[in-house]
Amino acid sequence: MSADFSSGLNQQWVRRTLAAVWHPCTQMQHHLRPDSPQAMPMLPVARAQGAWLYDFDGRRYLDGISSWWTNLFGHGHPKIVAALRAQLDELDHVMLAGFTHAPVVELSERLSARTQGALGHAFYASDGASATEIALKMSAHYWRNAGRTEKNGFLCLAGSYHGETVGAMAVTDLALFREAYAPLLRPAAVLPSPDARQAGEGETAQTVAQRAAAALEAYLREHAPEIAALIVEPLVQCASGMAMYDADYLRRARALCDAYEVHLICDEIAVGCGRTGTFFAHEQAGIRPDFLCLSKGITGGTLPLSAVLCTDAVYEAFLDDDVARAFLHSHSYTGNPLACRAALAVLDMFDEDDVLHANRERAEALGRAFAPLAAHPAVRHLRQRGMILAFDVATEDATFARRFYRAALAREALVRPLGKTIYVMPPYVLNEAERAHLACAVQGALAEALA
Ligand SMILES: *Cc1c(COP(=O)(O)O)cnc(C)c1O
Repeated sequence: MSADFSSGLNQQWVRRTLAAVWHPCTQMQHHLRPDSPQAMPMLPVARAQGAWLYDFDGRRYLDGISSWWTNLFGHGHPKIVAALRAQLDELDHVMLAGFTHAPVVELSERLSARTQGALGHAFYASDGASATEIALKMSAHYWRNAGRTEKNGFLCLAGSYHGETVGAMAVTDLALFREAYAPLLRPAAVLPSPDARQAGEGETAQTVAQRAAAALEAYLREHAPEIAALIVEPLVQCASGMAMYDADYLRRARALCDAYEVHLICDEIAVGCGRTGTFFAHEQAGIRPDFLCLSKGITGGTLPLSAVLCTDAVYEAFLDDDVARAFLHSHSYTGNPLACRAALAVLDMFDEDDVLHANRERAEALGRAFAPLAAHPAVRHLRQRGMILAFDVATEDATFARRFYRAALAREALVRPLGKTIYVMPPYVLNEAERAHLACAVQGALAEALA
């Protein structure tokens, strides 16, 4: 089975795209040479509704990865749309320095309340990488304000992903990025990941977590005086292949960070907002970080927004008559009212529709739909955390990911593998038929890509 994604109206948009647009993290040549084994189809999207994307030629695709993990409740959700329309009539945007407005105040209060006040202040930007930058800068500046200027290094985990700006790349351990931009970076120290797939014969995920925590302690014992913060993706390292790990690692990391005076930054840009079963993933470890980064799902996938929550103790360490001791960071659209209003509509849904409870049943149903894959001879490590389900594929074929992606699109599903890891991370709102459609498309595409 194959599909021609560039017929009719689609074709016009693809042609104009290739003449004028440069796509994110993409080798454009893979779009320019549709006959090569590396070819990537380009899909013009005319509109989207619920879990479905529609192209200009009337074909549809189930959004199995929530448009890069941003969409929680389906596209065009009426509650978010209504909130945005109302906000647009009141206030579109105003600079935040020296000004304030209802959406940013309400959002900050409600995010803080979601941490029971443990993280009492919120700082805003427009994307995840900027949230990472903010957390790193804030941590190092906190220590500087405390007279500990030597505490300015960072720790991250093997396989970590925290964004693609220069500062965020320095705490991102993906070889492809690091190689190309190495001369620009001041790299963080990379410590062993608690990725449960490393469990040996007779070992549990907790054994792996304890081993990784022991490595963290060994490092801190030597280097803590020069380290400002450890940054982690709680429970699931998404971009490096949906590496899932035991919450015990987070408990131990929290205790070690306390003992060695190092901040703990939880990057919940992908795993926050209910994705792993709790509103924040770190809650499953019974801990709180010093800094919490949110983005992606926070606006339900409608507008760019990110937030860094921090403790009041961190906030207060910046209060002084001296401007140089203030947190020196801003973006033109910091605290954009429309984006904050979309986030408030998302929080309303969590409060009013008992999303976390509903997600427990949805996650079980998702697991059931994909359970037959466990018996597939090429499937390894079928795993799930809430509304993220993933497995690895035993194949030596370097073009596997692209061929799978194409085969899934031909079956009306957007499922884009990370190397040899296939995952689904759908909007929460799939119904039974849509779950079955997704599982069926994945099974069919797997058979075709392995043939
Ligand atoms: C996507 C992601 C980022 C970067 O967010 P952008 O909005 O793409 O800059 C950072 N950290 C994690 C864990 C992510 O998944």
